[in-house]
Amino acid sequence: MIRSVVIVGGGTAGWMTASYLKAAFADRIDVTVVESPQVSRIGVGEATFSTVRHFFDYLGLDEADWLPKCAGGYKLGIRFENWSTPGEYFYHPFERLRTVDGFSLAEWWLELGDRSQPFDRSCFLTTALCEAKRSPRMLDGTLFISGVDSALGRSTLAEQRMQFPYAYHFDADEVARYLSGYAVERGVRHVVDSVEHVGQDERGWITNVRTAEHGELAGDLFIDCTGFRGLLINQTLGTTFQSFEDVLPNNRAVALRVPREDEAQMDPYTTATAMNAGWMWTIPLFRRNGNGYVYSDQFISPEEAERELRQAIAPDRDDLQANHIRMRIGRNTDSWVKNCVAIGLSSAFVEPLESTGIFFIQHAIEQLVKHFPDERWEPRQTKAYNDRVAHAVDGVKEFLVLHYKSARRDDTPYWKEAKVRAMPDALGARLDLAASRLLDEETVYPYFHGFESYSWNAMNLGLGNVPAAPLPALKHIDPRNARAEFARLAAEADEMVAALPSCYEYLASING
Ligand SMILES: Cc1cc2nc3c(=O)[nH]c(=O)nc-3n(C[C@H](O)[C@H](O)[C@H](O)COP(=O)(O)OP(=O)(O)OC[C@H]3O[C@@H](n4cnc5c(N)ncnc54)[C@H](O)[C@@H]3O)c2cc1C
Repeated sequence: MIRSVVIVGGGTAGWMTASYLKAAFADRIDVTVVESPQVSRIGVGEATFSTVRHFFDYLGLDEADWLPKCAGGYKLGIRFENWSTPGEYFYHPFERLRTVDGFSLAEWWLELGDRSQPFDRSCFLTTALCEAKRSPRMLDGTLFISGVDSALGRSTLAEQRMQFPYAYHFDADEVARYLSGYAVERGVRHVVDSVEHVGQDERGWITNVRTAEHGELAGDLFIDCTGFRGLLINQTLGTTFQSFEDVLPNNRAVALRVPREDEAQMDPYTTATAMNAGWMWTIPLFRRNGNGYVYSDQFISPEEAERELRQAIAPDRDDLQANHIRMRIGRNTDSWVKNCVAIGLSSAFVEPLESTGIFFIQHAIEQLVKHFPDERWEPRQTKAYNDRVAHAVDGVKEFLVLHYKSARRDDTPYWKEAKVRAMPDALGARLDLAASRLLDEETVYPYFHGFESYSWNAMNLGLGNVPAAPLPALKHIDPRNARAEFARLAAEADEMVAALPSCYEYLASING
């Protein structure tokens, strides 16, 4: 029986894993987290996926309790600015497209849509809440749509049936701290020390990690949460890392914490603004914004990137300290090798666009629990785990490459090169199909990767990659139902904008 789990690393990945394992298995396993006092966490202000709700519900945590403690805010989607034409923007919301007479509202928009109105604002309700900076909750806590707000309990991503309409922004450092309190309260041993040596047996399996001051920590299963350095999975076990830089060249970021001029002007969305050699995130936390420029150092130096970032958001604030981060983009061939499982940045990372880092962690932990080993270390289970993790990452890789391929922008060497850069073969075929019809669940990346066809279409249409013609069938269907649905959606949006408080007002009410 596997009784003892040692997690090396106390960043978001380490503490999410420790708290989830305790929530899943309670005292039936022993969990130790060893965290170096010398190596700091990545810890930038972070954006998540709407499905992260399964994670917090599984732990039995109440949003109104944990969110204020983590400087949190709401994220109804992502606003993309300047990706095609300067000044233009569109949203990628957490909202499935409505269907009328068997065809999605996006298909109907191609047939009937008022082209003076952008696709996203005609077909999604949530975009109106973004424009008006509304909270998704009324002041009494009621969600703006019904039927999706019941607690999910101990459910996982695989059981996601409904599209929940929002995700969170939060301070990742605070989340790690909050979860460490949760985990330690439930019996996780927390060792603040640096691992200096990894002990292995004659087969290469890990037997212990030796720390500077706490001696050797032995265990059955070792989880590598040491971030980009991959201390166990790469440095000790020598697992190969497949770089994605041939298709996703952004390999650095520079981040700033920026006070909001008017705290109350808080956006309920992440903004991704195209820049000369990459893009900039704006993540509104409760009292400040997090900003960062994600770029490729083939096209711009760290100094120039910092200058461009400061110029864009805080030209008069030389006192704000910039945090430069080098990113390892790609994934391990296998994230589970022998008795070691890498979770977090030590496993995979595809750059921050679309905020998938924490989603990968959540997916990996859930899959680890589903494939949890016993003393047989059944290789087919390990392989099944590795396949699922690889599929999820590769699907997101394709989806992100689409962002650069479909963007119309071509005014700098970076954006010009994006047009001719290599892309995964299957994406080429998908983009070719998307030039003639919108994608559906049969034609997007075929394995679970967190994104549904509505996301692929929201990005393609938002970026201006519009099919040449509407579907011929729609000419033969009475359009009245579709027109009524567009009108209903617009009326519901107006009603919600009038009824909901601002994002800041609601968060202030739960912040006390
Ligand atoms: C620029 C950037 C922006 C991002 N934005 C987002 C976003 O918006 N949304 C999102 O979901 N994800 C985002 N991510 C990803 C996200 O930050 C990570 O997935 C998440 O923070 C998990 O990091 P981690 O715990 O794997 O690694 P880290 O935060 O790097 O933690 C590593 C841990 O390992 C410990 N450690 C290292 N060496 C040793 C040793 N020898 N002994 C003991 N302990 C050791 C360190 O002390 C630390 O505790 C972003 C990442 C980057 C780089």
